[in-house]
Amino acid sequence: MAGSSASSAADSKLAGILQQRCPRCRRGQLFTHSALNLTQFTEMPPACPVCNLNYEPEPGFYWGAMYISFMFSTAIVLVIGFAVYYLLDDPDTWVYILAVATVSLVLTPWSLRYSRTLMLYLFGGAEYDERYK
Ligand SMILES: [Zn+2]
Repeated sequence: MAGSSASSAADSKLAGILQQRCPRCRRGQLFTHSALNLTQFTEMPPACPVCNLNYEPEPGFYWGAMYISFMFSTAIVLVIGFAVYYLLDDPDTWVYILAVATVSLVLTPWSLRYSRTLMLYLFGGAEYDERYK
């Protein structure tokens, strides 16, 4: 867009989730490294670098993210399973296993990060604060 401001704030809650930003200011990043950094893709700062929101409201907060991650995994199995069935005309079982395992492995960083992001947005108790716009 022409004339867009220098501000990098996400406009909506959905954009904040998709961009993995702080639920309160929607500016601070939730993760310190890229999802493609295979050794550090799960690392989060202890608090938001912009508004200082505590990213871990209570000890072990992100254990609950495992359930969200499990839902992502289930969705991957179903989508890839149906895709293999229709695109490859119901091949041998090992093709399903290989396809699901490969896609699940490749999507692991995103699955994990988005499950944590959703956990924080849904259960973190932080409301969007327009002062940080
Ligand atoms: Zn923030």
